[in-house]
Order: sequence, then C-alpha cells, then structure tokens
Amino acid sequence: MCREEMRALGWERLDVLLITGDAYVDHPSFGCVLLARWLIHHGFRTGLVAQPRWDRTDDLLVMGRPRLFAGISAGALDSLLAHYTAFRKKRRDDAYTPGGRAGARPNRACLVYANLARQAFPGLPLVLGGIEASLRRVSHYDFWTDALRRPILMDAKADLLVWGMGERAILECARRLDKGAGADALAGIPGTAWLDRLDARGHPARLPASLANAPLVALPGHQQILDEPEQLLRLTQALEQQVHRGDAWAFEPVDGRALVLAPPAVPLSTAEMDELYSLPFRREAHPSYREAIPAAEMLRTSITSHRGCGGGCSFCSLALHQGRHISSRSAESILDEARALARAAMTSGRRGKDGVAISDVGGPTANMWQAHCALEEAAGTECGASDGMGRKSRCRRLSCCFPTVCKAFVTPQRNHVELLRAVAALPGVKQVRVASGVRADLALRDPEALAAYTGEFTGGQLKVAPEHCAPSVLALMRKPPLATFETFLESFVRQSRAAGREQYVIPYLMSAFPGCTDEDMRTLAHWLRQRHWNPRQTQCFIPTPGTIATAMYYCGKNEAGEDIAVARTDAARLRQHHILMPSTGRPEKRAAAQTAKQSKKHGRS
Ligand code: SF4
Ligand code: SF4
Repeated sequence: MCREEMRALGWERLDVLLITGDAYVDHPSFGCVLLARWLIHHGFRTGLVAQPRWDRTDDLLVMGRPRLFAGISAGALDSLLAHYTAFRKKRRDDAYTPGGRAGARPNRACLVYANLARQAFPGLPLVLGGIEASLRRVSHYDFWTDALRRPILMDAKADLLVWGMGERAILECARRLDKGAGADALAGIPGTAWLDRLDARGHPARLPASLANAPLVALPGHQQILDEPEQLLRLTQALEQQVHRGDAWAFEPVDGRALVLAPPAVPLSTAEMDELYSLPFRREAHPSYREAIPAAEMLRTSITSHRGCGGGCSFCSLALHQGRHISSRSAESILDEARALARAAMTSGRRGKDGVAISDVGGPTANMWQAHCALEEAAGTECGASDGMGRKSRCRRLSCCFPTVCKAFVTPQRNHVELLRAVAALPGVKQVRVASGVRADLALRDPEALAAYTGEFTGGQLKVAPEHCAPSVLALMRKPPLATFETFLESFVRQSRAAGREQYVIPYLMSAFPGCTDEDMRTLAHWLRQRHWNPRQTQCFIPTPGTIATAMYYCGKNEAGEDIAVARTDAARLRQHHILMPSTGRPEKRAAAQTAKQSKKHGRS
C-alpha cells in the first residue's frame, strides 16, 4: 500500500496497481485482494490503493506509475447499493470501511476511479472489474436514477472490462502487456468485454482472428431497449445463457459502437482453487487502520469452500457473475485453512478457552460444495466454461434447482457434512457453523445430511430463504414451491427436538418483487401470523443492475413476455414492505403523497 512496503519487498516499481472502493483487508473474501495476491503469486508486483480520496490524484500516486496497467473496482458491492437503501435513503454505515461509516467511496466508484486513474497515469491501460463493472457490462437499468444506462465502459472510457471471476482474465492482461503489447491486444480474452467500431454489416469491426468461426450473438441494442423495454429482458436472458453455456461471443450495438463480450473464462479447477486459497493471506485489516472494519470482523473465521451456485434465482446477481458452474476447493485445502485459523487464533490470543469458532464453511449456498452436473461430467465438459472457440454445455435450463431440482444435479451433501465434522475435530477448533445458509430443496434430498446440519452445525439459528409463499411470486423468482420449505421446516423442527436443541429457522423474505401485489403480501403476512412468526429478515426488492428480476421490473413483463404488476414507486414498495414490517413503514398518508410526487418525477406509476 505504500513505498515503505515496496522497499521492504525489494520492489522499485509496480507492475500492476489495483484501486478498490473497499478498505484493505488481507482476506480472500475481498475480490481485489484475492486478485492482488494471485498476480503477485504469478510474478507481477502488485500494489493496492484502497478507498482513495477522489478529489485529487495524490493517493493513486503514492506508489508511482505502474508498468503494465491499473485495475479498478468499486469494491465488494455496487457503490450505489452500498450507499442507498431500498427506499433510496442514504445509508450511514458501510461494512467495508474502517469504523463502519459510509462516505469513504464515491457514488459510481468505477467511473470516478477510472477518471482519476486517467489523470494520474495518462496513457496507462485501464481495466475495470468487480461486481459493479460486471453487472453493468451491458445496457442496464439503474434504480437510483430510474433510467436505462449504457454499458459502463462507454462512460468509464477504460480499455477493458473483466466480468465474472477475474483470476484468469487479469493474469492474461498482465501477461499480454508484459510482452510489450498495447491495450488493443487485450481484446479477445475470455471473460472480458471491450468496445469496438461497427462495420457496414453492423457487426464489430475488429474481432480477434480467433473468432472467425465462432458463433456471434447480436444482443438487443441500447436504443432498441429504450424503444421497447422488453428487450432488456431478452438481453439479460441471452447473457445468462452465454454465462451458463459458454458457447458464444456476443455484442451489443450502442451509440454507433459495439460492446463486445467474449465467452466466459474457464472456471477454476479444484487444484487452481486450492492454489488460490493457499496464498499467504493474513486475514487481518492493514495495520494502518485505526478502527475496526465490520466486514473483516464478520469474515475473520469464515472459510470459502466453493464459488458458483446452480440456483439461478432471478433476483440474484450470481447467475451473471460467478455463473452456475460450481468450483470447489478440496477437503484438504479447507482443512489446512481451518488449521491455520486455529493457529492464528492461538497466537493472537483471540482463541477462546476451548478453541476457535469457525463461523462458516460454505459458499453462496453452503450445501453446494462439490455439487456438479452429471451430464457435463459424462461429456467431459464444464458448464459455463469455454476455450473461447465454441460450445461446452448443451443445457438450456435456467436453473439446476427450478422448477424442480434437476436429476443431473449431483449434490454430495454428505461429503460436506463429513468435511464439517473433520474441521470440527481439528485441535484448536471449538465449533463449526454454516453461516452462509443451506438450500432447503437440496437439503431435503438427503435426510442424513439435513439431520447433521440441524443437529451439529446450526448453532440455534439456520438461515433459509423461502423468499415468499405466493406460488406466482415464487415462480417469478425461480424459487421452489412453498410446500418444499414447509417440509424442510417440519424436518428441521423434528430433528432439532431429537437432538434436544432449541433452534430456529431464520426465513429470508422479500417484498415488492416484480409481479408481487399487495394481496400477495397480505397472503405472506397471514402465512407468517399462522406460524406466530415475526419476520426480521425482510428485504424490499432492490432492482440491482443486471438481473432477470430487474429486467422484469423495468419492462413490467415476466420471462414469457406477459404483463405483470410492478410496485414501482417508493411509496408502492413501502406499502408492500409495511404489510410485513409495520414497524419500519411510514404512515400510509405520507406514502400516498410520495406516490403522487414520484409518479410525476419518474413519469410512471
Ligand atoms: S440460491 Fe442463493 S446464491 Fe444461489 S442463485 Fe439463489 S439467491 Fe443466489
Ligand atoms: S443438466 Fe441439470 S444439472 Fe446439468 S447444468 Fe443443466 S440444469 Fe444443471
């Protein structure tokens, strides 16, 4: 992070500078840090500028101009999502900042940092990455301005955008530039996007030679979406298939140019995941910080076992970012990390009397460790993976779990349970929990695994996300029917009793989802009342960029193209939320006044 540290490492000059909107916590859950360690591991001297001031270039210049490129990320969250609530109110907190206070990063951080980097290092190749860039890689709806925005590269004026998980792409960028190539040579790297001219046929003019025979998908253009909002849904669906099947290059015409998307990068193998997670992370915030960083505290003893999720839920950004292919670490690698955690806790004095408590061994959904597609395995392909030249997966399903769990979806949950037991048995480990939560429909597939999750690794509360109870809303979310959750609940209660433990399910619920009406919310409230549940984990749907649900919200149609009701104004959204969470709502009168004001402002109701 500074010259002194460079000197200590014997570095005269950086090869790569990464700029991030999060504080620097040397933990693999922080994407930029993970990539920095990966680049260093492959011989590229990489520096990190965390949460720079954005009214001057001083912070970017601390380590000098890097030799190859600057990589820019808004941080672990889209900066607008980090800054505003579901009702567009400014947040005061930011878990990724010292002291947990908001205000350490700008709105639209990717654009601001890119601008800053251009001023600090004129002519240096700039590469965007992270969730903000990834989910805004094509035309997208921006909830905070209620407008369709162009692909982020158009405004950031960077040379390349890395989407999805970036290890392969960023390393390839460094290698190409290290060979003396210019920024133009970055086009064509799997898992990236770049801007090109349109030729006379309306196709990208300078496609890399490797693309000559590859299928090229023309996505709906920006103007087409403005004219016909449903096209945003078509574009998002096409992108989802591109990520899942890994079989095509795609381009979106926008303002006389083409935004070109290479197929996804090949997901990391187990050996590569092990290599990545065995890098020497200190799991601590940088010593220069004087205040605690809430996310660092939260993640200190959590272990990532895998990435990717087969769920394909329509509101989740994972389908377009990590994809549905699951990359798992080996058990040995995870056990090594648990041992290291136990050792570190012992030396730092944080270890309790009986050892360290490991808060999680999981991923987006804990019980998908080692999950995979039997058909891919048989065909020797990787779903969502591509060598850049052609198809890999033939599967056209939108989810491995919806409408029912696919027969080909192999979920060896007992292996996960054995892994948890092995971690719990390590010297210096007091207990193990699965804080990332489990998918109920998968847990029901294996009663023994469910009994183990319930009896051994729950810790009093288990997070499960039924999200709603109305069948039409669940279908729009691509979530399993309510009966699945209720069966799960019965088993959970029975097995908790059998284990002699008083435990609860924490149900995650969502209001104001596109297609959800006030009546649906009343049905949900009634369902909760019947169970004497007082919901605490209710999220009002936020149309974050790039998801299928957001496209439905934007165009007011379901995936089949039929009209659906959408609670669009803050007041209508608040009203739905208020049905479930009366204490958080404002009086109906005020909401009505807001509706009128907003309808006028946004031209919609
Ligand atoms: S199960 Fe969870 S992580 Fe997976 S797609 Fe659905 S919401 Fe996302
Ligand atoms: S065939 Fe089934 S398990 Fe395989 S990717 Fe498709 S939905 Fe998932």
